[in-house]
Amino acid sequence: MWFGIITIFPEMFSSIIKFGIINKAIKKTILQINFWNPRDYSKKKNRSVDDYPYGGGVGMIMNIEPIYLAIQAAKCFIKNKTKIIYLSPQGKKMNQKDILKLSLNRNLILVCGRYKGIDERLIKNCVDEEWSIGDYILSGGELPAMVLIDCLVRVIPGVLGKIQSAEEDSFSKNLLEHSQYTRPKKFLNYNVPDILLSGNHAKIKKWKLKHSLGKTWKKRPDLLKNITLTKEEKKLLLEYQNKYKKKI
Ligand code: SAM
Repeated sequence: MWFGIITIFPEMFSSIIKFGIINKAIKKTILQINFWNPRDYSKKKNRSVDDYPYGGGVGMIMNIEPIYLAIQAAKCFIKNKTKIIYLSPQGKKMNQKDILKLSLNRNLILVCGRYKGIDERLIKNCVDEEWSIGDYILSGGELPAMVLIDCLVRVIPGVLGKIQSAEEDSFSKNLLEHSQYTRPKKFLNYNVPDILLSGNHAKIKKWKLKHSLGKTWKKRPDLLKNITLTKEEKKLLLEYQNKYKKKI
């Protein structure tokens, strides 16, 4: 997968490029990230890329031309079909389903805004999709772009050791992941559930499904509204709920 990033702060991305799975994906050439800095396309003496808003108001707006030219340069570089995404608090709030859909694109150009945002004419005429990472305001689109890249890279086949580990993550089936445990079997007086140590794969599978359903019911009941449970899943959830209600 290829990303062309339009940002006035390309250095910020070294925090993801140098570490973890993104670094591994780059080394394996599964992932390529290139940068275009709108300042390089500014015609102003001080390379500035912002100006006062028409109609007045506080703050500065990013000029259309330097970003437009940076996008054209990125498109010229990649040549192939590419989608242009503007990271914006006004975009659709992204979820795991959206990530899976977006991962079908081979090339994405990510536009990172700064100041009070970018000139609306750029959004209307050059941007294909606007995506938000949540209902809060960050000072720039770089962190949202990094969040998007990280989420996308996780679901590209060949990046994670076993693709299964992404498929089992929370949200991939509209459910939260079941509880996880690792060694030691006993810490202080806290024990790992016996069933997970039993070696009975059928029972372990059922336990995992029950706890995935139960955790979702407890922590994110809104997710359950989006799925139709099978008879078996309803039974497992009821068992979980009865046990939980007894405890409280
Ligand atoms: N004035 C804008 C508004 O109210 O919609 C917010 C501008 S924000 C300070 C500057 C830049 O940060 C935006 O252009 C966008 O690229 C990025 N940004 C801020 N919050 C974001 C969010 N929740 N999701 C995605 N991008 C965000």
